[in-house]
Amino acid sequence: MPLASDDQSVNLLWTAGWDSTYRLLDLVLVKKKTVHPFYILSTSRESTLLELETMQRIKYLVGEVSSLAYERIRPVVIVSKNDIEEYSDISSKYEKLSSIRPLGKQYETFSRFVEQYGVEGLELGVEHGCGAYYFLKDVVERVFTSDGDQYWRLPLDHRGDLTLFRYYRMPLLFTRKTEMLEASKEFGFAHIMHETWFCHKPKRGKPCGKCYPCWVTMRSGMIERIPANRRVRHHINNVLRPIYYAIVRRRDL
Ligand SMILES: [Zn+2]
Repeated sequence: MPLASDDQSVNLLWTAGWDSTYRLLDLVLVKKKTVHPFYILSTSRESTLLELETMQRIKYLVGEVSSLAYERIRPVVIVSKNDIEEYSDISSKYEKLSSIRPLGKQYETFSRFVEQYGVEGLELGVEHGCGAYYFLKDVVERVFTSDGDQYWRLPLDHRGDLTLFRYYRMPLLFTRKTEMLEASKEFGFAHIMHETWFCHKPKRGKPCGKCYPCWVTMRSGMIERIPANRRVRHHINNVLRPIYYAIVRRRDL
């Protein structure tokens, strides 16, 4: 298992979703770096098989563009979520943060994974506007690599519950999904981006339109990726979610 990360070789948490796939494609096709992808396998998520199939399809499409880029994607290291150890301090930080505002449970899982396996410099596709973004946007520091690439991270001397995120590099923290789309068009890999998978509860092989990743996709200006007859929930949420967040913020004051 590749544990170290340097300027030419990147450890990336790859989910086959929009953000991490964008980073993967940008690294191997544009920046011409080697990527060591990691995938946390959940036996309870209905989309697991679709995600693994999507990864293979994406790799195949990369190979059609560039055989060298295909070679830069090293074999995916798959770790079962069931094999990741418990760390009460990490779980405690997650519980405290998620009581303040919504935060994906995956960050707790990923942090326990890094703590156990010691993967250095793991990149996460945390993007502009996601739950983690609002916790991190005002405290992170930007780091430039020797080749002009950049990422954000929690300052090494930071203390407190946000150290839940101390394990990660977050190169997309201030990038919107639509900006990734524009860049993928510019660099000629938008057709591969459209193969990415995001829904956690697919129905008949198509996005459900109800789960959180579906909602994020629609909210991010890519509603066309959801089947038209499954967008109703999104329109309802457009009314209800602002009310919910207003209540959460008021409780926070
Ligand atoms: Zn869904």
